[in-house]
Formats: sequence, structure tokens, C-alpha cells
Amino acid sequence: MKTIGLIGGMSWESSIEYYRIINETTKEKLGGLHSAKSLMVTVDFAEIEKLQHEGKWDDAAQILVKCAQDLERSGADFIVLCTNTMHKLADQISASVNIPFLHIADATAEKIVSAGIRKIGLLGTRFTMEHDFYKGRLIENFGLEVLTPLEPDRAIIHRVIYEELVQGKILENSRAEYRRIMERLITEGAQGIILGCTEIELLVGQEDSSVPLFPTTSIHAISAVEYALK
Ligand code: GLU
Repeated sequence: MKTIGLIGGMSWESSIEYYRIINETTKEKLGGLHSAKSLMVTVDFAEIEKLQHEGKWDDAAQILVKCAQDLERSGADFIVLCTNTMHKLADQISASVNIPFLHIADATAEKIVSAGIRKIGLLGTRFTMEHDFYKGRLIENFGLEVLTPLEPDRAIIHRVIYEELVQGKILENSRAEYRRIMERLITEGAQGIILGCTEIELLVGQEDSSVPLFPTTSIHAISAVEYALK
């Protein structure tokens, strides 16, 4: 079994889910008292959030590169970055270590493609919905067509993530808003929806949507276990 190296704390509300899913999946696959071999380095999310909103991505990269290098030095066999947004820095992080980097968008896109879906909705932070690092990868490497909500709805999705979900607040009004926004994407032709922020699956689940949902925390965590056991 390989040792999984997790970069967490963005936010810890979802890192805890990674830890749970990784261990539950390992137990499911191996039975008995088995659990995953893992290391987690976790950051202060307040520092990261400030750098994101100030557009200081290189400063954020320095922090995450150090996390990846610490994990490698401590014996991790590969890196799992427990946030979609910070995959904006995936190239810098993966270039700084000699161990593999398991990209969250690749793990998710593989599931979408194998479900036979071509037109996919994407919910996430503004950075994930609007910058090219995530959408571009889905389009260019996997041939997907990506739909994101219109502006007033993107603002709602982003606000709920930073003001509620990363602070452990799960509110019924926000669930209703997310449902409405997902319904709109479906009306526009989305055959499935990526929950492209690692906290969104704390708010909505398959019962909230009439098309398949692709929850990135679960998908990424399970693919980490599959890779660790390969
Ligand atoms: N966890 C979120 C994500 O998957 C947002 C927090 C962050 O900005 O890293 O994008």
C-alpha cells in the first residue's frame, strides 16, 4: 500500500471528509482492520483565502510547494491537494516534487467520460468557474463542454462557499439556491454537474438533482485509495 500525501486545510471542513472517505474506502476494499497509510499537512486557510482574493497566487504557490516537499520528505508516495481552487497551482506544485500528483479534475473527468456525459455543469469558487485552469483542462484533455452559471448565480455560489461552507454552516436557504442554480444548468443542457468545490457535497447531494452529480471530494478521495492500492 502506498502512503497518500494530503495537502489539507482548504478548508478543514472538507479535509476531514477526505480523511474519512479514504479510510472507509480502504476498509471496504481490504476488509478487517485495514486503514489507509496517509500523511496530511494542513495550512491556515485564512492566509490562503487572503492571497486568493488579493490575486497573490505566487505567494500561495510558495506555501503549497513547501507542503508538497514536506510530504515527500516525510515519505508520501504521491500528492493529493484537497481543494479544487488551488489546482490553479497544480503545475507549480507537481514540478516541485519527484512523486506523482493526483489531479482532482482528471479523476472527476474520467468518471464523467465513463458515464457517457459530454455536456457538464460546473459549480465551484469564482476562481474555479471563471479561470481557465479547470474548465480548460476538462475541455482540452477530455473533450467536455462545460456550462457555468450566469453572473448573479456565480456570485451566490462563491459567497455561500466562503461565508458558510468553509465555516461549517449548512443552511437550508442556500441549499434551495444551489438546487435552483443546478436546475437552471440542467435546463441549459447540462447532463451532469460537477460539485467542483470540496465543501459543496456537504450542502447538496444526488437527491437535490435530476442529473448525475460528480462530487469532487468523494471522487478524488476514492481515486487516491485506488492509486494507493494499485
Ligand atoms: N475547498 C474549496 C475548493 O475545492 C474552496 C476553498 C479554497 O479556496 O481552496 O475549491
